[in-house]
Amino acid sequence: MEQKETVFWTQLKEDMIAAASSLGIDKLRVTTADTFTELKERLIRHRELGHESGFEEPDLDLRTEPKRLMPEARSLIAIAVAYPSRLIDPPVSEPGKRRGILSRSAWGEDYHQALRRRLAKLSEWILERVPEAKLMSMVDTGALSDRAVAERAGIGWSGKNCSIITPEWGSWVYLGEMLTDLPLPPDRSVLDSCGDCTLCIDACPTGALVGPGQLNSQRCISFITQTKGIVEDEMMVKIGNRLYGCDTCQIVCPVNRKIDTRHHPELLPDPEVAKPLLRPLLTMGNREFREKFGMGSASWRGRKPIQRNALIALGNFRDVESVPDVAAVLRDDPRPVLRATAAWALGRIGSPDAKENLRNAQSTEKDDEVLLAIERALSAPETGRKRK
Ligand code: SF4
Ligand code: SF4
Repeated sequence: MEQKETVFWTQLKEDMIAAASSLGIDKLRVTTADTFTELKERLIRHRELGHESGFEEPDLDLRTEPKRLMPEARSLIAIAVAYPSRLIDPPVSEPGKRRGILSRSAWGEDYHQALRRRLAKLSEWILERVPEAKLMSMVDTGALSDRAVAERAGIGWSGKNCSIITPEWGSWVYLGEMLTDLPLPPDRSVLDSCGDCTLCIDACPTGALVGPGQLNSQRCISFITQTKGIVEDEMMVKIGNRLYGCDTCQIVCPVNRKIDTRHHPELLPDPEVAKPLLRPLLTMGNREFREKFGMGSASWRGRKPIQRNALIALGNFRDVESVPDVAAVLRDDPRPVLRATAAWALGRIGSPDAKENLRNAQSTEKDDEVLLAIERALSAPETGRKRK
């Protein structure tokens, strides 16, 4: 490796950047494999404040020191792939046929697959030119922070909404990286262009953005929609009709406006998956779930969170037409989390038959948490609206 001249590595990197689009990669940049010292300090503070989601790699040394993953590492290659941000002719959500919404990042093929395929092609491309190269690819679930790597490599700047914002594709990008022992020349980081703007912080429905670039994951809807337990009442109201993830702090970002990338066919959304009807989700079996959502990243936690969020959405729509379906979950579903959420949804709908179903369930329910949810739901004011 060392015998090769600097000029060889400079040329290799330029060729790699030029080849990126033929590999399905929209942006490729390089940084060193040095420790992310400032990130480590931030992550320690983040943990002390209790702001972690719990989905992260717990070992902060592994997250911030690339050489712990590959002792001979010299460089990190960061990649970005742009995804669509709009639905063409989105299906209408109307009374009796209410719809939920998935985060844009979960609209097309699971991005872990999409990026791994591209990183595998990039590995082949590198190994054809440097057969002795050592390479290690990561997407999302790897130890390193995709965002920290992308920021230092110059893919984009780290916005106040905690997203990496590329000048070309906004924050509608998937990120991945490759650790290597190749001594590639590093790129410069991108100038932070948030300026005085605070639109994302102001728009966050839960106050999860506790400061510029500081996220309390415990209050972030994106994280909460992926949990499996009973959600606090306050948060259920804020979830609205989101079934998976939350895009609010990206939608309001002025850089993202008018950006809608549609050049990767496998990332294009099926509107019936991106914005599905809620009521059929309540009775969906595992097979049906895999058929409908299995190709996308929203399926990684199984069907329960999506079904729970569908109940929350029907409650938030105060969809009186859905009372029989929600009541059937409360009566028949074997999962206490779903029964408790159904009770909350019926309380929020608040119609006379919603209340009647709650009273009926009260006499047969055995689970303490569900009984508590029924009690709270019954104390919610009745809306007086009858089911049509
Ligand atoms: S994803 Fe949603 S809840 Fe989370 S910080 Fe952004 S706007 Fe707030
Ligand atoms: S909304 Fe404004 S402050 Fe937030 S990330 Fe976008 S440009 Fe930065």
